[in-house]
Amino acid sequence: MSNRKILVTSALPYANGSIHLGHLVEYIQTDIWVRFQKMQGNQCHYVCADDTHGTPIMLRAQKEGITPEQLVDRVWHEHKADFDAFHVAFDNYYSTNTPETRYFADDIYLKLQQQGLISVRPVEQFYDPVKEMFLPDRFIKGECPKCHAKDQYGDNCEVCGATYAPVELINPYSAVSGAEPVRKSSDHYFFSLSDARCLDFLKSWITPPHVQNEAANKLNEWLESGLSDWDISRDAPYFGFEIPNAPGKFYYVWLDAPIGYMGSFKKLCDDRGLDFNEYWKPDSTTELYHFIGKDILYFHALFWPAELQHAGYRTPTSVYAHGFLTVNGEKMSKSRGTFITAKSYTDHIPNTEYLRYYYAAKLNASMEDLDLSLDDFVAKVNSDLIGKYINIASRCAGFLSKNFNGKLGQTDLANTLEFQNAYSDGEIARCYEAREYSRALREIMRLADVANQYIAERKPWELAKTGGRDDELQVICSTALTLFRDLTLYLKPVLPELASRVEAFLNIAPLAWHSEWQALPAGHSINAYQHLMTRLDPKLIAQMVADNQESLTPETPAPAQTTPVPQAVIAPLSETISLEDFSKVDLRVARIVNAEAVEGAQKLLKLTLDIGEAQPRTVFAGIKSAYDPEKLRGRLTVMVANLAPRKMKFGLSEGMVLAASGDTPGLYILSPDDGAQPGMRIK
Ligand SMILES: [Zn+2]
Repeated sequence: MSNRKILVTSALPYANGSIHLGHLVEYIQTDIWVRFQKMQGNQCHYVCADDTHGTPIMLRAQKEGITPEQLVDRVWHEHKADFDAFHVAFDNYYSTNTPETRYFADDIYLKLQQQGLISVRPVEQFYDPVKEMFLPDRFIKGECPKCHAKDQYGDNCEVCGATYAPVELINPYSAVSGAEPVRKSSDHYFFSLSDARCLDFLKSWITPPHVQNEAANKLNEWLESGLSDWDISRDAPYFGFEIPNAPGKFYYVWLDAPIGYMGSFKKLCDDRGLDFNEYWKPDSTTELYHFIGKDILYFHALFWPAELQHAGYRTPTSVYAHGFLTVNGEKMSKSRGTFITAKSYTDHIPNTEYLRYYYAAKLNASMEDLDLSLDDFVAKVNSDLIGKYINIASRCAGFLSKNFNGKLGQTDLANTLEFQNAYSDGEIARCYEAREYSRALREIMRLADVANQYIAERKPWELAKTGGRDDELQVICSTALTLFRDLTLYLKPVLPELASRVEAFLNIAPLAWHSEWQALPAGHSINAYQHLMTRLDPKLIAQMVADNQESLTPETPAPAQTTPVPQAVIAPLSETISLEDFSKVDLRVARIVNAEAVEGAQKLLKLTLDIGEAQPRTVFAGIKSAYDPEKLRGRLTVMVANLAPRKMKFGLSEGMVLAASGDTPGLYILSPDDGAQPGMRIK
């Protein structure tokens, strides 16, 4: 038996959103491969991490009034729970915001610099004068220069599909503060990908088996059209690692994301006493595989190997790209209820191995998209898993328990030949190794048909009724269970939880690919059969889709999760009012131009609010306990604009800002969604 040393990664999910069924294609694909390798007796390590840096994380944390560290810690726990639920068994699931990742980021950066592969030059970008930050393309909005649709992103128009540079937008504004951005120049750090050393290396590297054929074609097209140097720095404020000897400059999140694979593995090595260098030195004999989506090939098959090569590390053995998930033949869609998170799945469907099985039945080694057809999902799970596989055990086990006290008899070896041949031939193992899971499962289901045919022809239930041919009944059922054991072995990488229940039922050691095929021995005792898996009820799927449609909140990010408030503390609702009553209150979006403490006032902040009038308003708000005035500046909030002015000890208050509070401590002012402008009416 071979004993390969293998390190496997899946792409790092971004710590700014939930894991959904599209993400799970990759984690399930990788997990099956890793479990298969471990069952082969190989030393296989599977690491991953949350990708935690960048502007979106920083801004979301600000919006929630927490630190980025608090945000990424919370999301880490959510992601980890989702992966556990789907039996994705990382050896280490880490974060990029760790000392290990920082160490390797600096190490790689400094080595590239020594090689003369880092250059510095000015870049002109849009800058938000209110937030005092450079704006990524996605955070600039404006009118499309082609079709004049309003509120389009800085890189492309969702109405007409045009792509353009942010500077081409008409009337651009910052999606963060609503302010008009200014153009500002700043020094950026570049990885010199256009250097002949990088180009020559990549030309020879971009070939199978480093990448799939179809990927090699795409990558070579990019290479031939010329590579530009890669901008790897971002200016403060930025949540990430500051670049050594470059104050105020941070690594772009995409620089440290793949380095997070090394950081996560380093942590695993420290925990388990593994030799990190054995896996990462340039002449390493170990294997390194990255499973990724085809959309991030550019980063993993160009930037990443070029960085590693010139920083004195080994390069990947292979980068395996897969396609995207469609649901019912279309892009996942919130309005159709097919944008399904891992959490929504587990809230509705009691078994995650159904999905693992379905994905495996559709996955191959190509970059083709994979369709989750919800009707086919139900049909396939019920016909294959329940109808063909589970059925073998459920039809035979009872007779052994009832008639033979759970003891197995002899095996009808002549009728196991097809299974013995399949085992020694190794085709199923080859399919797993080659990531041709759909072919593996077709072969496994063909064998299940053979086993079912054996049972159907011998009709153990009739023997049990007529009696008198006990030996024969015991042999048939024992033989069937050996075949069932084989099928379980083959399905174990896909259905690990079910396999462990079968192992308990058959009273056998954990299944692994043995060197020789053997029948379950005569005289072996099994445990009483317990239900292994139930049919998938199509009503559950319908309910899940319906609930996803109902909870639709267009264009907003996932809601902030806060500690749930116990029911009892919700104050009783006020008396019903008419719409007319409500419309008397003139609520406006206001920008907090300034916020400062008020001398002599313990609870008050003096706010200067812009609602688009000629003069800003002054409002005294009792929110000092909850907000640092510095952090409020530039923020949008909501004010009552037609409240009668009130003369206070400290001056005239010309309105009121709204804030939420309960019986528990805490005070929360409101924020409109991205894109709202000062002065807009709220109704
Ligand atoms: Zn347009």
